[in-house]
Amino acid sequence: MPLTNSQYDSIMRSYEEKQRRARYLLAERTKLIYEKIPAYEQLDRQVSSISIQKGRQLLNGDANALSELKEELKTLSRQRAILLRENGYPDDYLAPVYECGKCSDTGYIDGRKCSCLRAAEVELIYEQSHIKNLLETENFSQLSYSYYEGEHLEKFKKAVQICQNFIKSFNSDYQNLFFYGTVGTGKSFLSCCVAKELIDMGNLVIYFSAAQLFDTLSKSTFEKDSKEAAAGIAEDVYGCDLLIIDDLGTELTNSFVSSQLFSCLNNRFLRKKSTIITTNLSLSELRDRYSDRIFSRITSNYEVCKLTGNDIRMKKKTDRK
Ligand SMILES: [Zn+2]
Repeated sequence: MPLTNSQYDSIMRSYEEKQRRARYLLAERTKLIYEKIPAYEQLDRQVSSISIQKGRQLLNGDANALSELKEELKTLSRQRAILLRENGYPDDYLAPVYECGKCSDTGYIDGRKCSCLRAAEVELIYEQSHIKNLLETENFSQLSYSYYEGEHLEKFKKAVQICQNFIKSFNSDYQNLFFYGTVGTGKSFLSCCVAKELIDMGNLVIYFSAAQLFDTLSKSTFEKDSKEAAAGIAEDVYGCDLLIIDDLGTELTNSFVSSQLFSCLNNRFLRKKSTIITTNLSLSELRDRYSDRIFSRITSNYEVCKLTGNDIRMKKKTDRK
């Protein structure tokens, strides 16, 4: 399931709130109409008394009661609509006003999730992923090969292919990606492209820069006040469908960071949850900076993908001038 329980609860609370608003609005409107059009209230009374009467007939074995009731209700509803119209109100003025008419703001249609609930989930997942704004510009629709040439272009094309395969088999295979190479060669861009596709498929994707990640993990370990909230985040970091650690190596590396990184990667490995890491470090720098066990975890379980070329970010900037 892509959402945690507390996330699901908070969505369902918002649905209850919508229904409450709709009931309140309906009650207010009904009060107003009863004041302005007393005949309307009479018709409403007739609806309830006829329903009760026909209900009794039905219980006493009168097989026609139900169809008679339907007919009479239809007539009454026509009369009510005429009354509203004559007094300058739209026919449906006293129909409940739901934000989503399909599911009457319950989130479900016949036990299945309504599209509005799916949209709310995806919205929440985007917020959770920390890359909501980033993904508006960094996605496959913005993919361009024009910044690359020669062997750089070949490497980039291959990386795009790897990403597309990763997405295609995400729900069936356990796999991880490791992008390395110099600044501005498209590593973060590609990881965002993957993130967007997987989020849109309903997966829980969490994106952290390495600095943010270790900051969060250290809070969950050391700071009493924020410990509980951060512990929830740590659980999501270990358990989300895809974790992206961007720019590994830009954080202040120390033995705490190194051990947190290992436990994060190891936890996700044991749970068979995919991870994407991007870094400007070379493979030998990676081994020197972190422990051997991290290095071997990555080289044995990740598809390692090198990107090369000039700094695209710089190129984009000059192109705009
Ligand atoms: Zn709906």
